[in-house]
Amino acid sequence: PTALVWFRRDLRLGDNPALAAACALGGQVIPVYIDAPEEEGAWPPGAASRWWQHHSLAALDSGLKKRNSRLIVRQGPSHKALGQLAEETSATHIFWNRRYEPAVIKRDQAIKQQLRAAGLTVKSTNALLLFEPWEIAKNDGMPYRIFTPFWKTCLEKGIGRSPFPPPQHLPPVNRQLQSEPLSTLGLLPKIPWDQEFYTHWTPGEAGAWRQWECFLEEALGKYHQERDRPDLPGTSRLSPHLHFGEISPRQIAFQIQIQMDRRAELTAGGQAYLRQLGWREFAYHLLYHFPETPEKPLNEGFTHFPWAEDYGEALTAWQQGRTGIPLVDAGMRELWRTGWMHNRVRMIAASLLTKNLRIPWQEGERWFWETLVDADLASNTLGWQWVAGCGADAAPYFRVFNPVLQGKKFDPEGKYVQQWIPELRKISKQHIHEPWKEARQPLSTPGSVGGQSGAWGVRSRNVLFPYDNPKIH
Ligand code: FAD
Repeated sequence: PTALVWFRRDLRLGDNPALAAACALGGQVIPVYIDAPEEEGAWPPGAASRWWQHHSLAALDSGLKKRNSRLIVRQGPSHKALGQLAEETSATHIFWNRRYEPAVIKRDQAIKQQLRAAGLTVKSTNALLLFEPWEIAKNDGMPYRIFTPFWKTCLEKGIGRSPFPPPQHLPPVNRQLQSEPLSTLGLLPKIPWDQEFYTHWTPGEAGAWRQWECFLEEALGKYHQERDRPDLPGTSRLSPHLHFGEISPRQIAFQIQIQMDRRAELTAGGQAYLRQLGWREFAYHLLYHFPETPEKPLNEGFTHFPWAEDYGEALTAWQQGRTGIPLVDAGMRELWRTGWMHNRVRMIAASLLTKNLRIPWQEGERWFWETLVDADLASNTLGWQWVAGCGADAAPYFRVFNPVLQGKKFDPEGKYVQQWIPELRKISKQHIHEPWKEARQPLSTPGSVGGQSGAWGVRSRNVLFPYDNPKIH
């Protein structure tokens, strides 16, 4: 028999149940990727995600080539591309790993029906999560809205099944089978804003494992103490790898269990890390059960929240990292230049946008969607609704992060701020989070955001709250 394996958000060979099922049939295995962003409803991948996707697909193809196979790339619509490929290869089976975005669930259900009606055997499996979103439920069968009991139930179920090993060899793919070159998908930017991404990231399965090894050796043991410090390399930076499925939460959870059994000093960090993977699970649980939440607050009482009007200029200043609040600007510039921002800083930047500037959280959510390499519909929705105070288990809507105090606590020497805001490099440590206390002369000299020449001028007058204007602070 011949089986198609439809790769989607599972761009890896290890712990890939769809690939393992196809291999188990013992016949031809055709790895397929279909480009169909228009099938993702209101949330086609943003620019930073597309960059990642391009490189991740290239890495998957080279992993397959090392095992004698190769990736067949086709353009959507997906149902047509799959039907056509099944015909060209006389495939009898199609396997894929599930996705959970509302528009994609609908599409997949329709495709499953069509393919089955055409006589194919179609099977989908879970590769993205520790648990299917519907496997965890309260005693009354309803979904959880509070994290701690949700995670407790997950832990009781046990998260330690061993991952599937990668296949050693794959059957070669017929040479006649046509594949689109990756470049035709147009995933890479036309303007080269991505140059710095290459110094921070290595998309693909091998890159994910290198990142994991590095985190395990250098930071896991201290994770519970240092995960809130943007000035230290205290977190794993595995989020984009997890998002694209280059490494699975099951593989990580399994590794952590092994390491904690061997090395007692990793226990506290290991457990804290597993709990963060739990937040990721919780995000998918919520997205699955409340599919309207990417656009609408989970707590309906917030539907008519009195947001500011006419906030265009303030939104642009926030996006460009020139609000005048050092920690927020540092985060927004880190985001622009690297496609990633530290979690603590995401919370503070989101709080400033929604609580101080009173800009709807959906605006921030969209900007993150476009600029994050780890942009993920479930986690981004949860993060924004949590900060805005309108989601599940959210911070109360009246709680406002004080970015100065947060800065002093989590970036005590101002290293993080100075790394991303060159204008503030001459400010003393004491005043780095409130430079207006030190300034006698205008601080914000003509320059450009993120050191990218000609991108955006940040003259003092263009900063929303100029760093050197004490009245505003
Ligand atoms: P680590 O601290 O090493 O955590 C390990 C893994 O656990 C992460 O890779 C991630 O998969 C998961 N995780 C950790 N914290 C969270 C969390 N709060 N919610 C869900 N999963 C979590 N994360 C995304 O992956 N994509 C997003 O689009 C996203 N948008 C966010 C928006 C806002 C406003 C906020 C406050 C948070 C958002 N997060 C998002 C969650 C979190 O900031 C990132 O997952 C984390 O910063 C990734 O860095 P890391 O891999 O070093 O995390």
